[in-house]
Amino acid sequence: MEIIKGVGIGDGLAKGKLIPLKKGTGGSHRLSLPDALEKAKALLDELYQNAKKTVGEEKAEIFSIRKMLLEDEDYLNRLDENVKKGLSPLMAVEEAGDHFFRFFSSLEDEYLSARAFDISELTTLLTGILKGEGFSFLTPTEDSILVMEELTAEQVFLLQDPKITGVISEKGNPNAHASILAAARSLPLLLLPEALSLNGLFGDAILDCEKGSLFLSPDEETLRAYEEKKAKRKIRKAVLQKLKGQADKTKDGVEIKVYANVNHPEEIDAVMENDAKGVGLFRSEFLLQNGVLPKEEEQFLIYRSMLEKMKDRLLIVRTMDFGADKCAPFPFPTEERNPALGLRGIRYSFTFPEILTTQLRALCRASVYGNLGIMFPMVSSKGELTEAKARLQDVQKTLRKENIPVKEHILTGVMIETPAAALISDVLARDADFFSIGTNDLTQYALAADRENPSLAPFITADHPAIMRLIALTAENARKAGIWAGICGELAKDLTLTESLIQMGIREFSLPPSMILPMRERIQNTISVPGKESYVSL
Ligand code: PEP
Ligand code: MG
Repeated sequence: MEIIKGVGIGDGLAKGKLIPLKKGTGGSHRLSLPDALEKAKALLDELYQNAKKTVGEEKAEIFSIRKMLLEDEDYLNRLDENVKKGLSPLMAVEEAGDHFFRFFSSLEDEYLSARAFDISELTTLLTGILKGEGFSFLTPTEDSILVMEELTAEQVFLLQDPKITGVISEKGNPNAHASILAAARSLPLLLLPEALSLNGLFGDAILDCEKGSLFLSPDEETLRAYEEKKAKRKIRKAVLQKLKGQADKTKDGVEIKVYANVNHPEEIDAVMENDAKGVGLFRSEFLLQNGVLPKEEEQFLIYRSMLEKMKDRLLIVRTMDFGADKCAPFPFPTEERNPALGLRGIRYSFTFPEILTTQLRALCRASVYGNLGIMFPMVSSKGELTEAKARLQDVQKTLRKENIPVKEHILTGVMIETPAAALISDVLARDADFFSIGTNDLTQYALAADRENPSLAPFITADHPAIMRLIALTAENARKAGIWAGICGELAKDLTLTESLIQMGIREFSLPPSMILPMRERIQNTISVPGKESYVSL
């Protein structure tokens, strides 16, 4: 047995055969272009069938659309001409990809221009096959732990086969979206640089994310320890279930809002199942599917159904936070050297006002079906907040003129994700109903450390004093203005910090649904004021 240390995401536990998705494992010989096309079609069929089972026929359609594009006469002719001109299969695919990407991006029609994204995905798929990259991993026959170069946020949504028990990714960072989504979906994930070069990559393994350990060819004792840990988890889960229906109150009686982070509408079921008192962050940008945004009516139906499922519990929708490491609708207006410092969040929304207006209209229309809050991402000045709120008010006015009912007051919050926002939180607090501190970005910007860069993980301490001070300042300014401050970044999950954060004045935590009950338990054992045990029994 060999034990290898990596960075575990969440506290997942997995057992299975390691499946390396190594560059070069897709075929030891070079494929011809026609063979690569056939292979791509078979893969798209497989993806279609898998997606149909997991996310439904409508969303699965995208793979049949891609297959149609692959069979399109113009596309095939272009490839053919390229090969006749003497280009290698790889170059032929890249040139055709580039050509059709430009073509589709230039079209006015929204549906057709979104096909540019499909073309770029097809190019990646085909070049991957031609380079011999392993890709067909979606239907393992036994429990498997995938080892891959980089798990992307999009792949997390696709990895729904219960036989995929865990993932090891060479690249990644605990604050990157792929990690956040994996943790939210309880997919055990280990970040392990150069994992694909390990010896013993085809054997059995155990993954313990809590310890950040990978056990290769586990011995009897390790297997027994794994089974015991699993059994203990089951008992712990049963104990936590007893907290359902209870209040989120500290020992000295201070009510804390324990809300859930949601990345996909279907996760509302887990929110209710875990008795979260609300949703503190719905990352609505993940409604973008394959480069296409749902229209106003579709968005309205999604928000309405989420609100209805949540009964009267608060649902805070963050307006779409496009840009930086997250996909954005095509075409993105500029090539950016520093996307994290670029056109993202509210800046993107102001640049493409029609996207913001469509979303706000859908949200306002849905507001009468439940308890809705709206918050804006990446705000860094008072002017941006004023402008965002003005857009919201305009939409409300227009809807009323159209005789469409809208909730009288929709809670409006600001995400505190930039040091600038934290530093002017006294000013922002005057115009906000609440603050939600996005510590993932706040940490990135305060420590000048790219959250996506795998080599920076050792340099990022979540509870760095600078971050703690920015949080304390924000909480204090919120308290003075009579509004609440919460945390929706990954820092909220660290239960060793909960008491200090509450004592700083944090009054809301938004976490993955699986963390709701552990947080409730933690809060119930917390005192809200430093050194004032006497407040107990208030
Ligand atoms: C954050 O930045 O902490 C946050 C919650 O937003 P996201 O992770 O989606 O950027
Ligand atoms: Mg953020």
